[in-house]
Amino acid sequence: MKVKEPFVVAGPCSVESREQLFSIVESLQQLSKVSMIRCGVWKPRTRPGGFEGLGEEALQWMCELKSEERYKGVRFACEVARPEHIVLALKYGVQAVWIGARTTANPFMVQELAEALRGSEISVMVKNAPSPDVKLWMGAIERFLNEGITNVWAIHRGFDLYKNSGYRNAPLWEVPIELRRAMPEIPIICDPSHIAGRREPLQQLSQTALDLGFDGLMMEVHPQPSVALTDSYQQLHPDDFKLLLNSLVLRSTEDIVIDEELRLLRGQIDQIDDQLLHLLEERLSVSVKIADVKERSNMAVFQPKRWDWVLTQRLELASQLGLDSDFVKEIFEKIHAESVRTQQESIK
Ligand code: PEP
Ligand code: MN
Repeated sequence: MKVKEPFVVAGPCSVESREQLFSIVESLQQLSKVSMIRCGVWKPRTRPGGFEGLGEEALQWMCELKSEERYKGVRFACEVARPEHIVLALKYGVQAVWIGARTTANPFMVQELAEALRGSEISVMVKNAPSPDVKLWMGAIERFLNEGITNVWAIHRGFDLYKNSGYRNAPLWEVPIELRRAMPEIPIICDPSHIAGRREPLQQLSQTALDLGFDGLMMEVHPQPSVALTDSYQQLHPDDFKLLLNSLVLRSTEDIVIDEELRLLRGQIDQIDDQLLHLLEERLSVSVKIADVKERSNMAVFQPKRWDWVLTQRLELASQLGLDSDFVKEIFEKIHAESVRTQQESIK
């Protein structure tokens, strides 16, 4: 069975000193699976006053490092957020730049960055915007493609949600899966560090990403995570990162054997999905009849007591069936919202 090796980008959240940079490169170079070093040199901070990166000085250290024979092949990636950053990243010869989540959310700035990169052969890695809007992510990627950048990648770093997902940024895997479907030629790498916000879930998130067919991983690794100036809770020590990399199982995400049992089971899934869709259609047509009755009786479309009862009752049944309550709640909230929308439409 042939499976693709993931493209691994690893390194500190931020370059903090020359010593720290040389130390992390030395450790990561010993891991043959690391293809590129990530180094934040301009740090977007939510509030002013924190460590904002060392800028050009850090880029000079990268050049100095690469001038040493043993580090000649090292490739670097850094974040850029303004056209001036691009001028410097190109001047110091970094191999890749990434666009941070908050920059991707701003099409004006993305356009300026894309224009500043026109004609360059650098790789551009576009993080998703904080909101789970696949079109915003695609739009940013398109702006770089339109300027002739041929090596454009996507980075999935999770999404800000008002609900607590247990992570710093909720993974919402369906969003990168949709990006893959819409832009199959764009490689996607996963950034478990910024999804998790802490060290414990990193292994599981990395394995999930590979099982979903991601092309690589970007991980924050620091020689002394506990004293890191940024993101200290999520950075891994190189020894722990080595253990994580060695624990990952590479599986094929393409059908390698069309096994008879698999074919039959998929047939069952197709039939069940068919039934689900017919039932949804039937449910909505009953809902439209209800809208008529409500209109005749001068009742508002949304009836909070009835909705409360429906949800409680469905969740009770879900629990008896051993279904996850968050999953069922989300589905019924969507079904109910569609029902309310259809009823409102029908009485217009
Ligand atoms: C980072 O990669 O260090 C970073 C700031 O990430 P994001 O843009 O995903 O928040
Ligand atoms: Mn970080």
